[in-house]
Amino acid sequence: MPERLTRVAHLFARLPGVGEKTAQRFALFVATADEEVARDLGAELAALRDHVRPCERCGNIAELAEGAQPGEVARCAICRDERRDKALLCVVARVQDLLAIERSGVMRGKYFVLGRLLSPLDGISAEDLPLERLRRIVEDPAAPVNEVLVATPPSVDGEATALLVAREMAALGARVTRIASGVPHGGDLEFADQVTLGRAIEGRKSFG
Ligand SMILES: [Zn+2]
Repeated sequence: MPERLTRVAHLFARLPGVGEKTAQRFALFVATADEEVARDLGAELAALRDHVRPCERCGNIAELAEGAQPGEVARCAICRDERRDKALLCVVARVQDLLAIERSGVMRGKYFVLGRLLSPLDGISAEDLPLERLRRIVEDPAAPVNEVLVATPPSVDGEATALLVAREMAALGARVTRIASGVPHGGDLEFADQVTLGRAIEGRKSFG
């Protein structure tokens, strides 16, 4: 393969769930399909990080307003929404989980995205989680959080992370709850159906 094509294939292979063969297929497709595909893909990808980035408060994906300065901080639509209950904070592992819970339509509070789970096997410890930022939000005197709902997935790492978050948040005096069972163990929140996920949120229980 031409070297340039190999470079593009290597980039595609870094995307989640894309193996080497698929990456090669993508690169070949972009090289041989309508020129417009390659040009649009290139332009959109190059501009993406200037316009879309993690929300500085909760870690959800946020879009910067048109004409925003490059260094400007982003606030997501949920953090900006004044009608949402600031006293209820739902802690999730990933943005995909937040989106799945939003689809269920039962969550009226705000969110906090950890970005990762505790994972001793992968060398991810408590210091690697944004707990300080979470603490600041829960302790914000302008908008005190009464309930922290821990909605990490029901996997080994998800449960270990839930325990850690519960301990940290309980120390701040917040009431900590955990989504009810119903999402299969080891399952991904992202792939749970809306009704199951909705029930898991509504049926949440006090932690411990
Ligand atoms: Zn946000």
